[in-house]
Amino acid sequence: MSDPYFEKARELLRHYYGYPSFRPAQEPVIRSLLHGRDTVAVMPTGAGKSICFQIPALIFPGLTLVISPLISLMKDQVDDLVEQGIPATFLNSSLSPSEADERLHGMEQGRYKLVYIAPERLDTSYFQHIVERQPISMVAVDEAHCLSQWGHDFRPSYRQIAPFIVALPRRPLVAAFTATATPEVRDDIIALLGLVHPDVHVTGFDRPNLYFEVRRGEDKKRFVERYLRKHPHEAGIIYAATRKEVDALYSLLARKHLAVGRYHAGLSDAEREKAQDDFLYDNVQVIVATNAFGMGIDKSNVRFVIHYNMPRSIEAYYQEAGRAGRDGEPGTCILLFSPQDTMTQKYLIDVSTEDDERKRYNLGRLQKMVDYCHTPECLRHFIIHYFGETGGDAACGNCGNCRAGLEKCDVTIDAQKVFSCVYRMHERFGLTLVAQVLKGSANSRVRELHLDKLSTYGLMKERSIPDIKLLIQRFIATDYLGLTESRYPVVVLKPPAYDVLRGRAQVFQAVPHEEEAAVSEDTGLFEELRALRKSIAMRDRIPPYLVFSDATLRDMCERLPQTAEEMREVRGIGEHKLKKYGDDFLACLLAYTKKQHA
Ligand code: ADP
Ligand code: ZN
Repeated sequence: MSDPYFEKARELLRHYYGYPSFRPAQEPVIRSLLHGRDTVAVMPTGAGKSICFQIPALIFPGLTLVISPLISLMKDQVDDLVEQGIPATFLNSSLSPSEADERLHGMEQGRYKLVYIAPERLDTSYFQHIVERQPISMVAVDEAHCLSQWGHDFRPSYRQIAPFIVALPRRPLVAAFTATATPEVRDDIIALLGLVHPDVHVTGFDRPNLYFEVRRGEDKKRFVERYLRKHPHEAGIIYAATRKEVDALYSLLARKHLAVGRYHAGLSDAEREKAQDDFLYDNVQVIVATNAFGMGIDKSNVRFVIHYNMPRSIEAYYQEAGRAGRDGEPGTCILLFSPQDTMTQKYLIDVSTEDDERKRYNLGRLQKMVDYCHTPECLRHFIIHYFGETGGDAACGNCGNCRAGLEKCDVTIDAQKVFSCVYRMHERFGLTLVAQVLKGSANSRVRELHLDKLSTYGLMKERSIPDIKLLIQRFIATDYLGLTESRYPVVVLKPPAYDVLRGRAQVFQAVPHEEEAAVSEDTGLFEELRALRKSIAMRDRIPPYLVFSDATLRDMCERLPQTAEEMREVRGIGEHKLKKYGDDFLACLLAYTKKQHA
């Protein structure tokens, strides 16, 4: 069905952004908005949500306000838009009063199509003047999970949005965007924004270009050092749990002459800003950081995210790891797990000021994260199922477990030993004690509790305690066993375990391997284009990825355009950028092809 509005949207996409088509997830969101329907879009990081409100904003007659929680994010997005020739600006506390006035004046004159604004600035009296002359067509709420106490980033200032909308002379269209998919958060967004029969679109959470891997029992320091030496030209983030860990790793790598930046809340504003800029501008390739880093980092060419410690939930992990490969090119996400990480996170939950219900909820989420670190099944499916998507049970082929798991082992006998031990211990004890009984250890607690009298005592005496614990954790991760959500979690049997105990079902497991992920190879041309991008970025004082993304450079390498016309075909080159950078890149490409034929 041809839809003139949608045709217009496609034309704008080509003209301003240089993309030939919308991604499948973007299309329905844009159609809803063009048909004037309030819309909630749940899209994973990197899915391309910005375009979903930017393009309708260009089509609507009035102004679009974009509410965004982070000042750095705003500036980045607006720079990006201006770079593409789209009239946009932002209003937040980083501006001087005269700058703010100047922009308000510009709004009044209709100079902008998009204005990004911090929620703290929402106040009708501030805008009264403007909205009388320049009606607001749409309010787009970015990071809308900030409305919800159930989200991981509740911000009270977001609660000002709904009263603001109600106070406007004409109700605008309202669109909400988030990457958090839990139903509680979604319901909160709809209720707290006062959305009217909204269309709700949930995008697949799969990010096929990301490779996932979990490594247990690694010498973490050595792993990171070797990884950085092997991938010297790639941008990456290394997340550690605490400031102390960040500092220690940063100093270690610096001593080894590996140039990395660092970022955490203990540094001064100036130090943090410099670290962030160095990373954005490709002055340093790698940054070691706590989770304070990243919200608001739109850098699209991050090639790897390594977690030096396990984060507190799958939501947090997927958001952080998801900063890799936003340009759609391959990205690598490796989590280095050690049991100590679980203790740290439990401790943090324990000492937090939250109420008991919330603590239990957080412990449950933490357990899922621990399960992720132990599952022998496909890691991608684990994540996707966590976010409530079903189906697609074939192995993904692009995660550590799938690569290892071409051959599954029958572990039924081990499973029966473990399950019967849990059963004989009356499902009353924790993981360590179960492992000790299986091992047949002679420690005093085991003897005091008379557990050495059980028939399962010493059933696995040939194995080490850490091995047995890992085995138990895998059964927990695959839902044969469970852990109670309490301060001292107890191992319990789940229904599938009974079938195994009765000899009615077998258990198969893939055993993860120890090899490294494949490395992408860079051609010489790609490096030349990167160098050119960097010099242009320095000249114009913008981050390199704002000139062109890695994906665009790669497409150039593949197509080898020789004329402006062919350049226009390259993914990510719109009219504005073609005019601005086309000649420089064409010259580089022509020189390269000449060299090849010489
Ligand atoms: P999100 O805000 O959802 O995390 P962004 O809006 O930053 O994601 O988009 C992620 C990347 O995908 C950006 O580099 C963007 O230019 C690119 N992108 C968005 N839409 C398209 C499209 N239709 N075709 C190709 N690339 C796209
Ligand atoms: Zn997989």
